[in-house]
Amino acid sequence: MKKNIALIGNPNSGKTTLFNALTGGSQRVGNWPGVTVEKKEGKLRQARDVTVTDLPGVYSLSPYSPEEEVSRRFLVEGSADAVINVVDATNLERNLILTLQLLEMGIPVTVALNMSDVVERRGDTVDEKKLSERLGCPVIRVSALKREGLENLAATVLEQASYGTRIPKKFFKCELSKAISEISGMLEGHIGDDLLYWYSIKVMEHDPHVPEALPSPVLERALETVRRTEDSLGDDGEAIIASARYEVVDSLVRGIYQKSEKGGKSVTDRIDEVVTNRWLAIPIFAAVMFLVYYLSITSVGGYMTDWVNETVFEENVLPRTADWLAGMGVEDWLVSLIVNGIITGVGAVLGFLPQLLVLFLLLALLEDSGYMARIAFVMDRILRRFGLSGKSFIPIIVGTGCAVPGIMASRTIEDERDRKITAMTTSFMPCSAKLPVIALISGALFGGSAWIAVSVYFIGVFSILVSGVILKKIRGAFGKASPFVMELPDYHVPSARNVVLSMGDRSWHFVKKAGTIIVLASGLIWLLTSYDWSLNPVGAESSMLASIGNALSPAFSPLGWGDWRAVVGTLSGLVAKENILSTFGILFGMEAVAEDGAEIWTYMATIMSPLAGFSFLLFNMLCAPCFAAIGAMRRELGSWKETALAVGYQCAFAYVVALAVYQFGLAIQGTPSFWLIPAALLVIGTGYLFFRNPGEPEDEVPAEAA
Ligand code: GDP
Ligand code: MG
Repeated sequence: MKKNIALIGNPNSGKTTLFNALTGGSQRVGNWPGVTVEKKEGKLRQARDVTVTDLPGVYSLSPYSPEEEVSRRFLVEGSADAVINVVDATNLERNLILTLQLLEMGIPVTVALNMSDVVERRGDTVDEKKLSERLGCPVIRVSALKREGLENLAATVLEQASYGTRIPKKFFKCELSKAISEISGMLEGHIGDDLLYWYSIKVMEHDPHVPEALPSPVLERALETVRRTEDSLGDDGEAIIASARYEVVDSLVRGIYQKSEKGGKSVTDRIDEVVTNRWLAIPIFAAVMFLVYYLSITSVGGYMTDWVNETVFEENVLPRTADWLAGMGVEDWLVSLIVNGIITGVGAVLGFLPQLLVLFLLLALLEDSGYMARIAFVMDRILRRFGLSGKSFIPIIVGTGCAVPGIMASRTIEDERDRKITAMTTSFMPCSAKLPVIALISGALFGGSAWIAVSVYFIGVFSILVSGVILKKIRGAFGKASPFVMELPDYHVPSARNVVLSMGDRSWHFVKKAGTIIVLASGLIWLLTSYDWSLNPVGAESSMLASIGNALSPAFSPLGWGDWRAVVGTLSGLVAKENILSTFGILFGMEAVAEDGAEIWTYMATIMSPLAGFSFLLFNMLCAPCFAAIGAMRRELGSWKETALAVGYQCAFAYVVALAVYQFGLAIQGTPSFWLIPAALLVIGTGYLFFRNPGEPEDEVPAEAA
């Protein structure tokens, strides 16, 4: 039998873990809310003709966030024959609010009482039989992580899916219940019988989608009943329903969860006392991130990368391929395209894979253990001051892997302004593709110091915070930060499976890009560097690219790197940031042939001073991200106009930062230039945008708007 089963539950209740366990799939799992942004599908292991859909995590079915929209539409349209409602057993009260709403819909619900291993470890107990009786639906105790109770769960939900009818469960009492029946009576004939009860509740809640589904005279009549009930109960309909649900849940959970006698503080509580401590939190976070970047870029990952670059590519793959091709009688120009263009370009990128693997491994460990959620929690204290929510930090952290999923993760932010500004600023973070560039500058000009990476990381955060304030004011509004409702999951020893999946997922993303875009771009750059405008083969110095770079370079001289190659590198970075390396590889590679194959680092030092190198790095970190990320931004912002505004802002901001760093740096070194004055003016201008009072907040614009 072909059936569809949906997984739904609060963020971080373990849906994705359960989905992977049930389907043998390999979705990325994160120990924080918001990792699952789109719905994902797989086939049930026990019955391959049953499709399982992992819906985005939601707290309710009100259409206030994109996740809620996706999940709700899926259920309303009847796309699921049955749902598994994943409930975090350690957090019943909050989780069951959603359960009630599912039962009101009448879809066959099976509650998966997840995290039962945590309950057990704490010595607590849950009475799932009693809960099942009270809810009127099966409740199955499972541990998605330990893969316990899954057979039972699958069998139960399949049985539920075979019923095929919707029977709404009614939990409300007295006056409210009467009002809802009355509304149901009026809606009859306009709404299908199976959703009648649910729609009646939605009318009571003043749900924004109800008017689309009902003719307005019918709605008007129903709203009279709503108003009468509101008057009599002394609150608005939405609040009446919300508090009624809390009351129901309150009586449902009474006596269900028994805390162990032992009491005392759990391990998680004790760790949190230190890790989220007012004074220690930020230093600990900084130390952790330093360690992460030190291990991945400087030491372990660094050695492995050196080995791949030098031993594998320079000493073996490149010369051998060249010999082999020449031996086959391939023409010189084609050998040059393949070896100097494509393989060198790909090699420069793949060489960094070991570093990335180490980085992704560490990030996955932090995520899965539960520490990452604490970082977001701690960051909320800071971000709030900048009018953002702690949730803005999730896209930022995801963005350290790749800006594309990072920007997409901004969808979890309810407040529209916060969401858009987060999508516009996430790419300020050093993503995986930018790490090779950081390593290049740090290695070539700063003796491999880990402080370069750390400073770029903090400048990224700084840029996001400053831009958050500036952009909010440009848009002429003080958006209120949305309330922070993030669960702090219990710490647990990371599962090897999750860690490997997450590491593989992020790395694969990187390699896929390296394999496609970069081969094309490398080929193009090779063409532009090997030929002049009349397509005569020439040295790089007189190539097409050199003339493009030369034409643009005056604009970048005040930043300290007016060399055409640096400009060309920056341009190629728009295709993908890691291209900056392959481009330099090609640009220097052609000269390196004459100069006994010295590395690209030595060449970097000849075209820029350390200070200029730092300015180059900052510009490339902050200016427009790669085309893929710009595409993601376009998706989240919803219009090309806003996307263009965002990219323009990013480039301007990058220019100001790089200019200020270089010119103030020169002044500190005792060699100020004329450009110090414009730099100072631009910094003052930015400060003005930051501190200015934008006047009336948009929300309170009176009279004609109303
Ligand atoms: P989602 O947001 O609902 O998709 O939740 P995830 O599947 O991403 O899981 C969130 C976190 O909870 C991850 O760290 C999981 O490893 C962890 N987790 C999920 N299920 C269980 C479980 O049954 N027991 C324990 N101890 N942890 C779990
Ligand atoms: Mg998930």
